[in-house]
Amino acid sequence: MTFKTEIGTDILRAKQFLDKEEIVAIPTETVYGLAANAFSENAINKVYVAKMRPTNNPLIVHVAREEWIYQLATEVNEKAELLIEKFMPGPLTLLLPKKKLVPDIVTSGLPDVAIRFPNHPTAKKLLSQLDYPLAAPSANPFGYISPTTAQHVYNQMNNKIPFILDGGQCSAGIESTIIGFKNNLPVIYRLGSITLSEIEAVVGKVIINSNTKDILAPGMLKKHYSPSTPLLLTEEIDEAMKKYNGKNIGLITYDSYSPLLPDEQQIVLGKSTNLGQVAHNLYAAMHTIDAVGYDIIIVKKLPDEGMGKSINDRLTRASNV
Ligand code: AMP
Ligand code: MG
Repeated sequence: MTFKTEIGTDILRAKQFLDKEEIVAIPTETVYGLAANAFSENAINKVYVAKMRPTNNPLIVHVAREEWIYQLATEVNEKAELLIEKFMPGPLTLLLPKKKLVPDIVTSGLPDVAIRFPNHPTAKKLLSQLDYPLAAPSANPFGYISPTTAQHVYNQMNNKIPFILDGGQCSAGIESTIIGFKNNLPVIYRLGSITLSEIEAVVGKVIINSNTKDILAPGMLKKHYSPSTPLLLTEEIDEAMKKYNGKNIGLITYDSYSPLLPDEQQIVLGKSTNLGQVAHNLYAAMHTIDAVGYDIIIVKKLPDEGMGKSINDRLTRASNV
């Protein structure tokens, strides 16, 4: 089915499509999502098709209030409760044992459901007007860069969905941190907008799941978030530019422009002392630079700590050189 995709700010219009089991792209504070009624298998199927996402990759269920979490999960353990209290609404996703009312297609048959309470005024307003939660993966074709503006969604999803709810540029800019539990111990399945140390300050030691083959968290697939242009992630950008001398290079860096390349071929994401700003600008920069048609995109790697660890995680999965 093809659509003439509309972009608008009308929440009621978004609700009308969702009530008819259609997909609406919605803004959140992390990235835009491709949202559908989480209780409708028919609607969820359309999300997998539009995204070209294999059905063994589960979706995150977005709720409008904390109470909804208890309606979707059979059990909320004490550590989960602490995390809910501290970080919700916000860029945190919790994996909790699902109740039967959550269709298996949402969790790809897994026993846990991923739940998130987004902190974006438009998403909150929309969700609070619905009598069902919204299942939503990021609004990009499977494997490609996540969208952080309505225009990014339009560029990738034009004709595939009826409506994009425009809520401006996403503030956090990279995906939520996903946390599950193994024998009551918190496990991070995806690094994200909330850092490891912020989580550990609330629940103590957590394990980082490093099994990239684990279908439990395709956000942890080795290759993901990738532009069409080859991308090289390196600490040594001067060396890399010398290596690709003669090629048409686009550079993504921090703090200041490199003297080795014309400024027009570079995007400075922000100060490396303000990684929130760097994360906010990251995907938009990748969309912009990917559209130019360079031979190669070189990206400077950050020190691997705090938010830098989450940003490096995305860039490592995006790199294909
Ligand atoms: P996306 O929204 O496209 O960034 O992807 C959502 C992420 O949440 C993916 O990495 C999923 O694997 C992960 N996820 C969603 N539901 C579950 C679940 N039930 N169990 C494990 N991971 C999940
Ligand atoms: Mg995604």
